[in-house]
Amino acid sequence: MSTVTEVFGSKVFDDRVMKATLSAKVYNSLKKTIDEGADLDINVANAVATAMKDWAVSNGATHYTHWFQPLTGVTAEKHDSFISPSPDGGVIMEFSGKELIKGEPDASSFPSGGLRATFEARGYTAWDPTSYAFIKDKTLCIPTAFCSYGGHALDKKTPLLRSMQALNKQAMRIIRLFGDDTVKCVRCSVGPEQEYFLVDAEMYAKRPDLVYTGRTLFGAKSPKGQEMDDHYFGVIKPRVQAFMDDLNEELWSLGILAKTEHNEVAPAQHELAPIFTTTNVSTDHNQLTMEIMKKVASRHGLVCLLHEKPFAGVNGSGKHNNWSICTDSGVNLLSPGKTPYENAQFLLFLCAVIKAVDDYQDLLRISVATAGNDHRLGANEAPPAVVSIFLGDELEAIMEAIEKDEPYNATDKQVMKLGVHVLPKFTKDTTDRNRTSPFAFTGNKFEFRMLGSSDSIACANIMLNTAVAESLKIYADRLENVEDFETALHEMIRKTIKDHKRIIFNGNGYDDSWIEEATAVRGLCNYKTTADAIPHLLDKKNTDLLINHKIYTLEEVTSRHDICLENYCKTVKIEANTMVSMARGDIAPAIAAYLKELAKTTSLKKSICDEIPCKYEVGVIKKLSALLDDIADKTDALEAAIAKTEECADMVAEAQAVKEMLLNEMADLRKACDDAEAVTAKKYWPYPSYGDLLFSVK
Ligand code: ADP
Ligand code: MG
Repeated sequence: MSTVTEVFGSKVFDDRVMKATLSAKVYNSLKKTIDEGADLDINVANAVATAMKDWAVSNGATHYTHWFQPLTGVTAEKHDSFISPSPDGGVIMEFSGKELIKGEPDASSFPSGGLRATFEARGYTAWDPTSYAFIKDKTLCIPTAFCSYGGHALDKKTPLLRSMQALNKQAMRIIRLFGDDTVKCVRCSVGPEQEYFLVDAEMYAKRPDLVYTGRTLFGAKSPKGQEMDDHYFGVIKPRVQAFMDDLNEELWSLGILAKTEHNEVAPAQHELAPIFTTTNVSTDHNQLTMEIMKKVASRHGLVCLLHEKPFAGVNGSGKHNNWSICTDSGVNLLSPGKTPYENAQFLLFLCAVIKAVDDYQDLLRISVATAGNDHRLGANEAPPAVVSIFLGDELEAIMEAIEKDEPYNATDKQVMKLGVHVLPKFTKDTTDRNRTSPFAFTGNKFEFRMLGSSDSIACANIMLNTAVAESLKIYADRLENVEDFETALHEMIRKTIKDHKRIIFNGNGYDDSWIEEATAVRGLCNYKTTADAIPHLLDKKNTDLLINHKIYTLEEVTSRHDICLENYCKTVKIEANTMVSMARGDIAPAIAAYLKELAKTTSLKKSICDEIPCKYEVGVIKKLSALLDDIADKTDALEAAIAKTEECADMVAEAQAVKEMLLNEMADLRKACDDAEAVTAKKYWPYPSYGDLLFSVK
């Protein structure tokens, strides 16, 4: 048995391997590219490629792939072997700098939202040296960006890297204003907490809804759900523990900092949290984590469900995006410092986030909008679809004191002045009592809690980084030109608090009264569904932001808009079609078969003697016959609704039609089928029940 420290990173071409295998000159040159984005010389690339190949081959790899994140939301890879024929009839293992830097997958089937005409179907991939290469299943995986030949980003990594650059650029202007000349760059870090369900593979295979859509589309409530709160942080069952052990080992070998694991609120639900790292790497790692969770689960006869709402009636799964910004010298800019000056800087960065979240609340909502996540947001288990910020009582009191030029507590008689006061250290306990907030300050980071469990974290972080970069830009533009820095700073912080305090809410986000207040009194936006949210991506203020900070071109952002709506429509339609097929193919025939048995029993009884009571059989026959007719009608209605959505003029209209027509018809059909399940003998029901799925893994 190897120890954790031996396993950790053993399949990663990380800094340790680079140091050991590259000459000092090549290593230093590569480091410069990684740390400062300097151009890479082809000779250096050749040397790195050879070292990478030798290392990979000695660790069992036979192939390499440019590993990228197209707009499908999952990762993509096309494997090439290292072999190259040698004159003596054999082969040698080869890998050049050119192959490392650039690849040309024939990628015409990836969604491009119109960015790539068929005549230029080939996109190209470009090495991202800031994310380490790694070995997965005998293949050297090289993290890459994916672009069209016209130079348009066709992936999630490119805009994410651009947003990190935008944030770095503006944050550095602020740092310089505070007189720091030593900091070289500012990075944002993320620790995503990943929720998931584990179900038995054999049962999963018997449920077409899980197989086709990742969630159950039918299913009567199980007698027991999560009401006892006995699963949350409960003892981990042996089969699940074996899965987690195996998973940890694989993740560690890939250099992924898997740290915390526990049972979640719903039965069969679990969570994994890694230690936070740079956003770009964290995004790659989260994609890998999701992939490996699925792979390891299947080795244990389990299936890992990453869908946001696999089961009605119990909690769904999300992803908490813990986010902070930090200098290369290790100062967390969202942590109150030791000196008043550091505190003033902290308050400015805090205000930048507050302003960003208020100004671009719609973009944050949009960044997490998917058909799956619509089932969670606002459903009393996840944050509402309305974005607000939780600061905690202490920080809110400080903000109020600054706004009103008043002392901020009884012992402190002085009026709050920046550059004079030392702030208290906020411990997590005083800041993190509220679990209902979509965007909570938790001591030295913000926790964005609206992300869906299956989503890439790239989109949310792109929007967050860019919106904060914009606040910082506005601050820097103003502060770079003032004579009295401290007064201007104080005024600016006050103004931000005044203008944006509507976004701050410390109360219960699940309360209906909050949604009413948020929308009617505070004017916050409430886009309940993806169909409502996505069209606002193209609002001028949003495209201006994204274009000005060079995150997306107008064509790129339009393509994301189209792809999101298309995905939404396709997802819901696949669900609707699956329901039609299950209702007609399995559920109705099962009910009919059970009815036949009941009818047979009744007539048999009657043939023996007219007096034998048949109240039970007749009662069930009546009830089920009515439900069966209902199911048939509702299946027809759903099918007709699906056909109707095809007639829409454009994508925005189609998404609205899908939302308004399909979702209601689907809910109606489900209700009739679930009612029927509750009165049908278990051996006749064609699918494993909710109870079977949720409680069978021991
Ligand atoms: P929770 O109480 O929500 O479960 P934890 O304290 O377990 O939160 O931390 C959750 C995540 O936050 C972890 O992934 C952790 O690494 C990450 N995290 C901690 N500090 C920071 C930070 N400064 N920046 C970004 N993420 C952080
Ligand atoms: Mg959390």
